[in-house]
Amino acid sequence: MRGYIPDYQFITPDSLGEALSLLANEPQKWKPFAGGTDLMVLLEAGKLTHRNYLNIWPLKELRHVAVDESHVTLGALTTYTDVQANPVLRTEFPMLCQAASETGGLAIQNRGTLGGNIINASPAADSPPALLAYDAQLELSSSRGARWIAYNGFHTGYKEMGIRDDELLTRIRLQRSPRPLIHYYRKVGTRKAQAISKVCLAGVLLLRETEVEDVRIALGSVAPIPLRCVLTEDELRGKNLNPALIHTAVRELATEISPIDDIRSTKDYRLRVSQNLLADFLTRPQ
Ligand SMILES: Cc1cc2nc3c(=O)[nH]c(=O)nc-3n(C[C@H](O)[C@H](O)[C@H](O)COP(=O)(O)OP(=O)(O)OC[C@H]3O[C@@H](n4cnc5c(N)ncnc54)[C@H](O)[C@@H]3O)c2cc1C
Repeated sequence: MRGYIPDYQFITPDSLGEALSLLANEPQKWKPFAGGTDLMVLLEAGKLTHRNYLNIWPLKELRHVAVDESHVTLGALTTYTDVQANPVLRTEFPMLCQAASETGGLAIQNRGTLGGNIINASPAADSPPALLAYDAQLELSSSRGARWIAYNGFHTGYKEMGIRDDELLTRIRLQRSPRPLIHYYRKVGTRKAQAISKVCLAGVLLLRETEVEDVRIALGSVAPIPLRCVLTEDELRGKNLNPALIHTAVRELATEISPIDDIRSTKDYRLRVSQNLLADFLTRPQ
């Protein structure tokens, strides 16, 4: 049954500074409310246990895409629609745009934010594999200041992550590559649209002739957290990309992921599909 609205407190700070002061003064009391697309589902189901929300949605400081010579930096409130509309993201970070275009329907894309997707921390979320494969960095801000951390390692367990109670996720930074990368993003769900992933793989590859100069691989829905597959990457880096190496990498992947049976899929299906997607990604350049 839907949560009883008068039980909830919802306040709108005038600025990022005011939001951070409220979090600093009563850090356990307030939780951010961005687009609300995850939080409203909990409210409707009567499962929204936390009662006090800071409405950060109107904070313009957190909604922008800034491009400089070395990086593209996105405010945490950047929506999926904003992502798809940006020409630099479309050209240089196509996996993020593809993830955005395959997230929910238009209403969710207009309202759902990248920051909310990261902090909601669903292992089945669609932007985290792309952000991990692009080796994104996160800016966490509090009234004490801001700190940048690597996104890889941010999720430490199911719905557990390295953000403090008085912090907001404020920006996401992506390093631009001086050389063209091969990008591969595949979300496998029950149907093409409005489906939660059974498996999602994002990968980027930099080749020097046939040698793997660099590779980053991330998967969703195969572990309690969105996972960067560093062991599989290590197996590939610095070696000649050939069928034998692809076979070895596919075998290594099975030791690195820990898919489970649930209502959306089975452990065996997720393992097989993850391996097939990895082989497909690595076979394309040949
Ligand atoms: C019909 C439907 C379809 C969906 N389809 C998909 C899909 O295909 N793929 C997918 O990945 N997701 C999907 N979602 C989930 C959801 O839309 C996304 O996770 C979205 O990005 C959440 O962003 P939000 O701004 O709405 O988050 P909110 O609901 O506002 O917040 C989510 C969580 O993040 C916290 N939070 C938000 N912003 C910040 C911040 N800046 N700093 C600190 N904490 C913050 C909140 O406190 C809350 O805990 C779907 C949801 C619905 C209802």
